Parts: sequence; C-alpha cells; structure tokens
Amino acid sequence: MRALILSDIHANLDALDAVLNAAPDHDAVWNLGDNVGYGASPNEVIERIRDLGTVFVRGNHDRACSGLASLDDFNPVAARAARWTQRMLTPEHTQWLRQLARGPLKPHGEIVSCMHGSALDEDEYLINVRDAWKPLRDAVTQINFFGHTHVQGGFATNDEQWFKLAPVYDTGDTAEEFELGLSSGARYLINPGSVGQPRDGDWRAAFALFDEERMTLHFYRIPYAVRRAQQRILDAGLPDRLAARLSEGR
Ligand code: ZN
Repeated sequence: MRALILSDIHANLDALDAVLNAAPDHDAVWNLGDNVGYGASPNEVIERIRDLGTVFVRGNHDRACSGLASLDDFNPVAARAARWTQRMLTPEHTQWLRQLARGPLKPHGEIVSCMHGSALDEDEYLINVRDAWKPLRDAVTQINFFGHTHVQGGFATNDEQWFKLAPVYDTGDTAEEFELGLSSGARYLINPGSVGQPRDGDWRAAFALFDEERMTLHFYRIPYAVRRAQQRILDAGLPDRLAARLSEGR
C-alpha cells in the first residue's frame, strides 16, 4: 500500500498540478486539510482533489472559508483572503468544505493517523520537539501525519530520545526526493509539507509518499509555475504579500 500525503494546498492550482504530475504510483491519497485560503484558485483546486482523495481531514482555513468558524483568530491578510474565498466559492464547493471530517482519522488499520494540527487539537501548531513531546507520547498509532505548520519534516521518538526530522536536499531548485526509513520501534509525527504555500524557506511544492511494504517515507520538493500562481493572486486583488511569500517560501 502506497499513500500520497498532501496538505495545505491553499488554492494554489499551479503547485497542485505540478505535484500531481510528479507523484509516483500510489493506491490512496490522504489529504490533511487547508485546501483553500490564501491562493486564487479555490474552486479549481476543489474540483481537482475531491474525486482524487480517499481520506480528507479539515483545516482551519477550510472551516473559516466555508463559514464554519469565525475569522477572529486570523491575521488581517488571512482574513481578507478568507472573505474573498467565501465570495468566490460555489455553493457546492462551500458545502463540500463544510462536510470535511475533523481529525484525527485512521485511514489504514491501526498504524496510521491523519490530522491537521495535532490529535488533541486540530488547530495546534507542532513546531518544535517540545510541542511534539506530548502528542508523540500519547499517540495511539505508530505513524501520525499532520500539517498546519507548512514545514516539511516532523518528529520521532523511541521512548528514550526525541528527534526532529528534516529532509536534506542538494540543489534547492530542481525536483528532489529524500527517503526516510521508518523503524518499527519508533513513533512518528510526519508533516509532508505544504503543496501551495511552503514556509520552510524552500519555495518548491512539498508532498510525501508513505510506502507500507518497505516501511519508508519519501519526501518530495517539486518546482512549479510560481510566477503564474503569483500573478493569479495579484489579478484577483488578493493582498500582494500572499504573492510575494510564495517565491520566498515563507
Ligand atoms: Zn495551512
């Protein structure tokens, strides 16, 4: 069983298309949420992914852009983009966002969980080992996929030591893959990175592939038409900052 793990697409159609073109063969697509918000192609992205995924958990932007949550916790730029998205979404796509499940979900027996923030709080940011300590200690599954931070990598523990996981790449501007062997004696929190708005200093679209038979996790970075995605944001009248940050990877 091979699962493609996608998260934080954020209405970036150009990044999503590049990822789907580059994705290796897989049996399932697990989507960790934040399909919309920030980017200029919310309807087109939902159109692409809704028939493609087998498991979807909702993100905070999916809730806010479909009116399920207030914008009070959003900064002014994120709130402006969420209001724009609310106006642009078709009623059908708004409805699709509203029915997305709250994580964690177990898509494949008792070994894997999928969530947006953490298992305890769907809006929690797991940024450092300290944040990850309790979620990893209390994890009921060995492998736990999360998103929300837009940082590719994650955390692991063998109950004695806690580790930060970060893929290492060579070129920084071509399509690249980093393989991580998963040990049966460890528990993992793994973030595939953000497809549509990376914030780890690397502008390339991020995703991951889980290979159950080989017990490996493959991280990917894929160049995409970032200028086109930026132009769509500017043409839509969305905040300039949302365009600028795509090429910075911040
Ligand atoms: Zn997000």
